[in-house]
Amino acid sequence: MSEPQTQSFQAEVRQLLDIVIHSLYTDKEIFVRELISNASDSLEKLRLKQLTENAVYQADLPLEINITTDEEAGTLTITDHGIGMTREELTENLGTIARSGSKEFLEALKEKGDANASVIGQFGVGFYSVFMAADKVEVYTHSWDESAESLKWESDGQTGYTVSEVDEEQRGARIVVYLKEDEKDFAKAENLKSIIDKHSRFVSFPLSLNGERVNTVEAIWLKSKNELTPDDYKEFYQYCAHAVDEPRHTLHFSADAPININALLFTPDENHERFGFGQMKAGVSLYCRKVLIDAEPQGLLPEWMRFVKGVVDSEDLPLNISRESMQDSALVKKLNSLLTKRFIKHLAKDAKDAKSNPEKYEEFFERFGRYLKEGIATSHENHEALADLLRFQSSMTEAGKNTSFAEYLTRAKEDQDSIYYLTGIDRNSMEAGPYLEAFQKRGVEVIFLTDNIDGYIMETLREFKGKKLVSADRAEIDLDELPDDESKLSEEESKELVEWLGKTLGDKVESVDMGKRLVSHPVVALTPLDAPSGQMRAMMEAMGQAGPEPKARLEFNPNHEVVAKLNALRKDNEEVAARVAGQLADNALMAAGMIKDPSSVIAGMNSLLGSLMK
Ligand code: ADP
Ligand code: MG
Repeated sequence: MSEPQTQSFQAEVRQLLDIVIHSLYTDKEIFVRELISNASDSLEKLRLKQLTENAVYQADLPLEINITTDEEAGTLTITDHGIGMTREELTENLGTIARSGSKEFLEALKEKGDANASVIGQFGVGFYSVFMAADKVEVYTHSWDESAESLKWESDGQTGYTVSEVDEEQRGARIVVYLKEDEKDFAKAENLKSIIDKHSRFVSFPLSLNGERVNTVEAIWLKSKNELTPDDYKEFYQYCAHAVDEPRHTLHFSADAPININALLFTPDENHERFGFGQMKAGVSLYCRKVLIDAEPQGLLPEWMRFVKGVVDSEDLPLNISRESMQDSALVKKLNSLLTKRFIKHLAKDAKDAKSNPEKYEEFFERFGRYLKEGIATSHENHEALADLLRFQSSMTEAGKNTSFAEYLTRAKEDQDSIYYLTGIDRNSMEAGPYLEAFQKRGVEVIFLTDNIDGYIMETLREFKGKKLVSADRAEIDLDELPDDESKLSEEESKELVEWLGKTLGDKVESVDMGKRLVSHPVVALTPLDAPSGQMRAMMEAMGQAGPEPKARLEFNPNHEVVAKLNALRKDNEEVAARVAGQLADNALMAAGMIKDPSSVIAGMNSLLGSLMK
């Protein structure tokens, strides 16, 4: 027999253990669920191995989970005949954190600390939760691979672990938990029984406690809705999502044509990604006639739906479909499209119901709206249905209140063929800026977009129900003239001023014009329609694909006092007038975000002020 080997935990594991043990879980009993769920995962993996491998060690062992307690010794033991672990696997699975995002997770977790007990299972730190209640854990194991050794892994959850060879073990894993002095209640059978009832009743393998069966294996997704209570749904959600919260949406449906499908989908209450917890893993498992095919199937749902949890079962799937062929399978593609459509429809219905309880959908959108936008950005499918789910403020909503494209259209002018939007950091700055007033004056609604991917989303969508989506800072927008405006400049004067401005400003801008869009601002910089927006440019720049900065068209306001005075000044003192014109242009370009370095504008302004006070 080989010598025992002692190794230290990877630094990340030690950090994680520290957090898990000291701050994360208030609900210590959840470690039981985590160990049972690992046993169940391991049995599922063995079931698949049996389909694909010729030889599996001790093939006749039953696929069951057995738990025994010893109240006096303060121990409990969880045994499964799943795939077990080899020496390398013990180190890899119980000594390191393989996930690349776990470092960021740890950092985020430290900042958020206490609040998020529900994330633990989703990040693959489930096993370590045992050290909340234990001061020593032994894992006895033999892999499904006959040639592997019988091994014992043991640790006190502090600094490291020891792996040693042992006498013959059965296939699978036997985990002995030595409870801490003040956690010995977990070794009381009746206690453990109620914990199992609460957290593990949906385990899909026979589970016994001290020799007595404690669960009935049932595939609740195959039952009909009227056999199930809200509590059944809630508990199943918590079981399959490793969650402690209530599901926000529950969608249970089945169909026979064009494909057989039974689906039970949930959305969580909270979105952990928005707190910087790293990207969620796919959370919907794929079954065929109650047999798990893949717990994290690639391509079953589009990536943006990764926040959805639950189960999909289809009788039409071949049982031995491999993970690799899954993504290319025509059937999986069909399931994907059908599930996506059904899910979006469910959200749309919820948004409509939300009319009576608007906070409900608003809250969902605030927490999960990012995924819907991701759905628009990453695929051309379902654009209109997804766009219909978006919410934003507009010039016609009260501050803080949202509207939708559909509602916007009910308020649009009869002949309005576009939906107008502005992008900015907040509502106030867009209200105060030069672009809105022309629309306001004509009673045309403008959507306010503040999320930094919104501009990109609008450009991807291009239209909604046949109406173009147009940024309100674009040059070509054709707004009807308002008749009652009294221009401070005659048509002749305007023409001459435009010519002079064009010459004076030179190639600082693309062109200069007098326009009717402004009210209180003397001049505005407009992006040409065919140029990418500021946000789009920022993205292209980040990808190294941005071309030269597009030049703006300046539109001056002939009704504005400053413009009239400028016209007078250029006849008296052309040199100062030229500097004023340059400054006005810079101000407009800066307001439009087209000047990166404001210090040059400020220097120009200071020197202009100096020369005016001579
Ligand atoms: P997760 O279950 O999310 O992968 P855990 O921390 O719960 O994360 O478990 C870590 C890994 O340890 C598992 O992925 C698995 O490879 C291994 N493992 C844990 N328990 C068992 C078991 N009973 N049998 C076989 N492997 C196990
Ligand atoms: Mg686990």
